[in-house]
Amino acid sequence: DIFGDERLNSAAINIDIDAQWQPFSTAVAAFADHQWQAASLPMTTTDVSAEIITVTAPYDRREVVGEVTFATEVQVDEAISRAENAFDDWSASAASVRCHYLCLLAEQLQQHQHELVALCHREAGKTIQDSIDEIREAVDFCRYYAQQATLRFESSQQITNYHGIEQQLRYQGRGVFVCISPWNFPLAIFIGQISAALAAGNTVVAKPAEQTSLIAYRAIELLLETGIPAGVIQLLPGRGVNIGQQLLSDERIAGVVFTGSTPTAQAINRTLAARACPPVPFIAETGGQNAMIVDSTALPEQVVRDVVRSAFASAGQRCSALRVLFVQADIADRVIDLIKGAMAEIKVGRPELHRTDVGPVIDRTARNKLMTHIETLKNQAKLIAQTPLSAECQFGDFVPPTAIEISDISLLEQEHFGPILHVIRFKADALYQIIDQINHTGFGLTLAIHSRNERTYLDIEQRVHVGNCYINRDQVGAAVGVQPFGGQGQSGTGPKAGGPHYLYRFTQDCILPINN
Ligand code: NAP
Repeated sequence: DIFGDERLNSAAINIDIDAQWQPFSTAVAAFADHQWQAASLPMTTTDVSAEIITVTAPYDRREVVGEVTFATEVQVDEAISRAENAFDDWSASAASVRCHYLCLLAEQLQQHQHELVALCHREAGKTIQDSIDEIREAVDFCRYYAQQATLRFESSQQITNYHGIEQQLRYQGRGVFVCISPWNFPLAIFIGQISAALAAGNTVVAKPAEQTSLIAYRAIELLLETGIPAGVIQLLPGRGVNIGQQLLSDERIAGVVFTGSTPTAQAINRTLAARACPPVPFIAETGGQNAMIVDSTALPEQVVRDVVRSAFASAGQRCSALRVLFVQADIADRVIDLIKGAMAEIKVGRPELHRTDVGPVIDRTARNKLMTHIETLKNQAKLIAQTPLSAECQFGDFVPPTAIEISDISLLEQEHFGPILHVIRFKADALYQIIDQINHTGFGLTLAIHSRNERTYLDIEQRVHVGNCYINRDQVGAAVGVQPFGGQGQSGTGPKAGGPHYLYRFTQDCILPINN
């Protein structure tokens, strides 16, 4: 494993992807045949104008994964109505009752983990290891938010006052919460948002990324199998640009949680601001221009291990991934040589093969954008290394892991969401300039610092405005409940997902002075 971490050796799990796929392929066929009426999901329609798309595998576009029928305007409206009707009872139920369903969902996800691994692999092009991590994280979100909600919302809190009357503080759901999720964590973030909103007492209309609707579909099916009350969860597969406007403009929605790119968050913010009805909370978890700063006291071998994992694991399609490596000139040649050596060892290929380190990117559009960026930079920067693609990559959307030396971070105006590492050398006396440059990007998601000088790393950590700062380690793979995750500035509104303050933003608090 080129990423050299302690993650479970997926070969030991011995998942037979094809065997696992069989049961699901039946479900996919039924899905395509519009036979989900019984499950009362709003993705079935008799409307002949509904858009139906064929899903193909990112690693081989000749392989059909399934079909998805996108929600129509009428279905968007119906979904909001059903969620609204279900709200009063759901919100009035005890937190422990709501959370019971989330714990059941966690069990369901575990029981079906092999099938879900197969699906993450096929629809999202994830490696087996990344797929396993994905299901674990989804399970962690369910259990963590269930535990947090029960702890914080099960009973009212007494508030001290000096007037002799009893006074209580109670947290309650806000109403219909819209959950909009990205394709890069198609199960973990999709389930994370939903479980937080439900645990806090809201009902949910969930809009998954269009590239990963099948995974979302299967997750909702498993949630419904827990016996969760009808109407509480509504799934709306579709194109954000098409259904987003209608969904977000609807005056019945009570809040929005979004994870995705910064430009989309800005578009959603504008739509919400233009509504004639009262403002609703908007939680946005967005992109980054994540840097790593390496000074001359750092250990090059350790740096390279962490650089390669941070930049290229999951084909660089993590919001936390390393985009810009700042390395002090004194050790830059040594670090760059080691990066070249490590990149020669990376195996790019079909994600179901255990030898594969880096799989495909999500789709042709993403691939073309990344390749254009590499070609543009080649004219103004120095290519350090590019891992070659093997013949097995010819039918999929693969991007070769690429490291390129650039002169200035201002060459990167936006996030490049793939396996591209930009390297910048800096002189010791320019440290504060690069800190300014990083802050000047406006993004503030992750930062890694490699230095054995405690004063240096504490000083940098205090000056760079990011949500998650990692010292002498890689910067990807935040664990639910252990490393709450989220950015600042252009990278997000907060609160941090998987952290103790997250659920409060999904609630409103009510004060009850009681005159006995
Ligand atoms: P995206 O293009 O912004 O899409 C995210 C979601 O928003 C999708 O469901 C998308 O639907 C929907 N959407 C698009 N336009 C919309 C609109 N006008 N109204 C309502 N919804 C709309 O992001 P992505 O490409 O899926 O995901 C990658 C991005 O997510 C990267 O920037 C990454 O950094 C970020 N990310 C951040 C975090 C974090 O915690 N900070 C975590 C993971 C990913 P369609 O799919 O139909 O377009």
